[in-house]
Amino acid sequence: MEYPLVKACIDLDAIQHNVQHLKQMIPGQSKFMAVVKANAYGHGAIRVAQKALKSGADWLGIARLNEAVELREAGIQAPILMFGYIHPSQVRVAVDLDLVITVYEFEMAQQLSREARRSNKYVKAHLKVDTGMGRVGMIIDKTDKKPSCQAAEKQREIKQSARKKAVKEIKKILRLPGIDLNGIYTHFAAADSKDKTYTQMQIDLFTSLLEDLRKEAVDLEVCHAANSAGIIRFARSHFDMVRAGISLYGLYPSFEVDQSKVALVPAMSLTSIVTAVRNVPKGFYVSYGRTHKTQKPTRLASIPVGYADGFSRLFSSNGTMLVKGYKAPIVGRVCMDQTMIDVGDIPDVKTGDEVVLIGSQGNKTISADELAKKINTINYEIVSALTSRVERIYSDSGSVSG
Ligand SMILES: *Cc1c(COP(=O)(O)O)cnc(C)c1O
Repeated sequence: MEYPLVKACIDLDAIQHNVQHLKQMIPGQSKFMAVVKANAYGHGAIRVAQKALKSGADWLGIARLNEAVELREAGIQAPILMFGYIHPSQVRVAVDLDLVITVYEFEMAQQLSREARRSNKYVKAHLKVDTGMGRVGMIIDKTDKKPSCQAAEKQREIKQSARKKAVKEIKKILRLPGIDLNGIYTHFAAADSKDKTYTQMQIDLFTSLLEDLRKEAVDLEVCHAANSAGIIRFARSHFDMVRAGISLYGLYPSFEVDQSKVALVPAMSLTSIVTAVRNVPKGFYVSYGRTHKTQKPTRLASIPVGYADGFSRLFSSNGTMLVKGYKAPIVGRVCMDQTMIDVGDIPDVKTGDEVVLIGSQGNKTISADELAKKINTINYEIVSALTSRVERIYSDSGSVSG
């Protein structure tokens, strides 16, 4: 008999709400990609992908090949773009799964082309250009970013020649057999930060490149750039498709993104139960390293959640959990499988009581944002860190299923 000690409850109606509301922000002809990499940011890739597609998403985005295998094995037929690196030896699998892969260098494209031809197939691809993210992609801006009046003309020239080189390279890739290049995209480095100028520059650069391509009669069907922050804050970045990740899950990309622009609903809550309650005296040491010593006689509750569930050890004596509608402080170190909270001020806590780590109980809420702030990270990491040991429970218009 299943009796999950830690449950991530995923509200699929929230996924639907978020897809629909984000879609209202983009032009009708722009496609909507649901980014479901990393097990849908911890929410469970298959169920989220199915729900997102049913709610109006057109594409799925993933990072690794095994993520695509999981989706296809579940019978999902929507177009899938893989953002991550693909080794030439994986081309056959990518073709069999009908994936769109990402290429960013001519040599890479050449190898992929060779592999595809060897098995008499062709592989679909989108080209990734680096307009300022500084991660992967064909670099099309070789200028340094130091502003200088005298050098402005010179910089424009350098930029133009960098774009020319990129156009040339793209045309070369288009001529390769075995590769069907029909999309181009870029990724934003700072679309969620208050200062919008860097992202404006990235959009300008991408737009110029697309114009250069058009002038050369190079027609790439799907041009895309926007992540969640781009969708919410930069209408000019919507192009032919947008790629929604964190916002799909009802979380905002950062505290600097204006939450009034779109009302998102968080899809995940994380709960556990009390597995022991003990009265302890003053001066009682709690957990590994004896880092916490009780200041007075109190009651401690043990919660069966730990860093092996993805609940960071940085929450040691640094955070709270909800029990009986109160916030109880985490005391001592978070262990691999267990964490202790002090419930001395909370009446009637018993073994079996529900404990909320993310979500609401009574009139109190702990958000993924609040947890992120506590340990100096971002909500993305809080939800995507949850491991497979955490049971995912799905609810969809009232019906609950595992
Ligand atoms: C992860 C990712 C996204 C989604 O970003 P969010 O900020 O979560 O919306 C979009 N595009 C690419 C290439 C990504 O890797």
